[in-house]
Amino acid sequence: MKHIIVCGKLFDGKRDELLEGVEIRVEDNIITEVGQNLSRTPETDVIDLSHLTVTPGMIDAHVHSDIFRWQKIWDIVTRSATWCNLGHLHTAQRSLERGFTTIRCHALGDPGYGVVDVKKAIEAGYFHGSRMVVACHMIGTVGSHADFSQIFSENPNLANSAQNPAIGAGADFFRDVVRKEAKFGGDFIKLFMSGGFSTPNDGPEDQQLSDDEAEAIISTARQLRKPTTAHVYAPPLMQKLIKLGITGMEHGAMMDAETAAMFEETDTYLVPTFCPYEEIIDLDEANLAKKPEFFQKKLRHYAEILKKGREIIVKSNIRLGYGTDFVAVHECYESWYEYRSWMRSGMDPFRILKAATSVNAGILEIDDKIGSIEPGKLADIAGWPRDLLHDEDALSECGFVMKNGVVYPTYKTT
Ligand SMILES: [Zn+2]
Repeated sequence: MKHIIVCGKLFDGKRDELLEGVEIRVEDNIITEVGQNLSRTPETDVIDLSHLTVTPGMIDAHVHSDIFRWQKIWDIVTRSATWCNLGHLHTAQRSLERGFTTIRCHALGDPGYGVVDVKKAIEAGYFHGSRMVVACHMIGTVGSHADFSQIFSENPNLANSAQNPAIGAGADFFRDVVRKEAKFGGDFIKLFMSGGFSTPNDGPEDQQLSDDEAEAIISTARQLRKPTTAHVYAPPLMQKLIKLGITGMEHGAMMDAETAAMFEETDTYLVPTFCPYEEIIDLDEANLAKKPEFFQKKLRHYAEILKKGREIIVKSNIRLGYGTDFVAVHECYESWYEYRSWMRSGMDPFRILKAATSVNAGILEIDDKIGSIEPGKLADIAGWPRDLLHDEDALSECGFVMKNGVVYPTYKTT
């Protein structure tokens, strides 16, 4: 199939400008030419997007895709593996309809490796859905932020039987966990260095993996050529991870200047997931009240540190990726909310757009295939009716989506 896409404006994924009068030639699933007044034959299918701003398909780098509805997050522990894996499929479908053609999935629930099957079933064309890059488990210690069986902590028998197989202790245990993640098809390794906000029994400054356990995970993954990322907040823990040679990190919301400089020097990426703390940064009592009491309490306690950390991240030159991490308030496929948070934080819109396209493609280690509109790349293309440079909710409305050369229906949230 041969298409020419006529763009209103074009953000190509890399340049800090919107180009006008540009056309994209797509042959089968590949972008073969980008330019003006491209030649046409009678067989060429012309897709007129002159009313839209065209971009590469967006990428969300932090999606807990097995959550169907945030109000029922604990289904990941109380329901079956099949339910969790249907959740991944549901999210991948909803994300694609919203212009996010790739999602990096941080799987929570299935004790097995079902997220790999969901990814492969979409790749094989049995279902429509976003391209998935997956971590099969949250790797961490007993009672940590990764150990969701803590919701049953008043019933130790129940909690012990609900404990995920990637939860344990000791360097050898974690080496084995990482080897299995690689063996069964995980694309990246996710470790939990610190506690967090969304679990009842820990805090964001707690160190939850010992130094030797973190080292075992990161070095084993490196031996197997798998990238590593960590859930982490406190600066001393981020500094430890950089010294251990971690590929990147998630959150980092308590960032300080010294740690930011280390990120910059080592080109370690950060997916800062602004949205989950938005209610406390830009005080929104109504949305705050939707979170469990312990979650609210922790956010209020750390409010000033989170605000300062946000400022340092925005002003830094850290390689920032775009990711949402929704486990409360918003559905995990409503990736557009993060755009609003970054815009409200004073981030340059081109930095946001690059984070969600070319930078994220690099973080996912598939920037040879996606993340920009240029010849040779896969035809992952989205179109947006609203003003991407000034409208903080511009990504809430998707007017066109193509993944791997195939056009899919879009869902409009407004
Ligand atoms: Zn997360």
